[in-house]
Amino acid sequence: MKYKAVTELDLAGKRVLIRVDFNVPLKTNPDGVVAVADDTRIKASLPTINYVLASGGSAILVSHLGRPGGQAVAKYSMAPVGKHLAVLTGLPVIISPEVVGAQVEAISRSLAPGEIMLLENVRFEAGETTNSAEVSEGLARLADVYVNDAFGTAHRAHASTSGAALLIPERAAGFLMQKELDTLKKVTEAPDHPFVAIVGGAKVSDKIGIIESLLEHVDNLLIGGAMAYTFLKAKGIETGNSLTEDDKLDLARDLLSRAGSRIHLPTDHICADAFSETATVASSDIQIPSGMMGLDIGPKTIASYSSIILKAKTVIWNGPMGVFEMKPFSNGTFAIAKTLVDATKKGAFTVVGGGDSVAAIVTSGLSEKVSHVSTGGGAMLELLEGKVLPGVVALGS
Ligand code: AMP
Repeated sequence: MKYKAVTELDLAGKRVLIRVDFNVPLKTNPDGVVAVADDTRIKASLPTINYVLASGGSAILVSHLGRPGGQAVAKYSMAPVGKHLAVLTGLPVIISPEVVGAQVEAISRSLAPGEIMLLENVRFEAGETTNSAEVSEGLARLADVYVNDAFGTAHRAHASTSGAALLIPERAAGFLMQKELDTLKKVTEAPDHPFVAIVGGAKVSDKIGIIESLLEHVDNLLIGGAMAYTFLKAKGIETGNSLTEDDKLDLARDLLSRAGSRIHLPTDHICADAFSETATVASSDIQIPSGMMGLDIGPKTIASYSSIILKAKTVIWNGPMGVFEMKPFSNGTFAIAKTLVDATKKGAFTVVGGGDSVAAIVTSGLSEKVSHVSTGGGAMLELLEGKVLPGVVALGS
């Protein structure tokens, strides 16, 4: 897919609509003021914003925040994000009262080079997720140039990621988008072998596409999280009360037979008598006793997975190995995060993506120590499945 980089555009005196990913967690401070709880995503878009401003353009930023469902919902307002952005850039940030319409068009026309306007949450408009002509045209009327820097939503054909882009002839990828695409291209097109994928999380059904496509490329696929129990059950192993998808057992059997020895399943577990931090916790071998549920991989599995990871030249990881949000079941996920860092030190190219695995690697303070932490879980999975992303297609000339 051919598209321009933001550095190839003439931005002087132009109004630049930048699709950013400001879908950040918020918190309410003790004084009742709502503020940004984690500004990683905002900081990640600063290189593109600063470049546009330094090149003599004005920046009109558009993002979604949460799922307001196509209507204005006060708790999903971009106002706290705008305030935080003003602190990070040291510049005033105009918060537009609406996403599209006469008012915001008038503000956009009055913007001087170097000024920033943040549009209100684009998902306040129902036409955003349906990619309506009305919202696409409304956004396109605000700008002379379109830049997409929101890799995390590039797998969605929405008005702000696709419709508006196609209506603005001058368009390009921002720095963050480019870095993500370049890095993941390296993994999808020419990975160094041994190539190991670690896939975890809740459901097999969410990750069938990625498992099938990874099996064509990887030397080893390590399975963890709840989805491992569907595979174990498909092999006739006792899984007790563990979360399983019984309508996916045939599919799991089919994947196992196709994968042969390349697919690896946990051989021991940390289990509990309830899905709770205060449950009674026990270790088990491969069979899970009745009345218990598997909530994390056990030490033998950590050791065997780690030895495979440490021999790899390329590693990708998506999805936690257990219920890492609860302390008694977090060890497997954090141990694998640490092994990824060790593999990186030994020269492997290591990529982590997906909200929960990224949260785990950030919480353990290791995010700087792997090769790449992707800002897009779904977008990364779709790229790895070999799909083209609508947000990238829309940047094409
Ligand atoms: P996903 O969004 O599919 O990557 O799934 C992430 C979620 O899976 C996290 O919230 C984990 O707590 C959950 N998870 C991981 N392992 C298990 C397990 N063994 N049992 C239940 N939930 C799990």
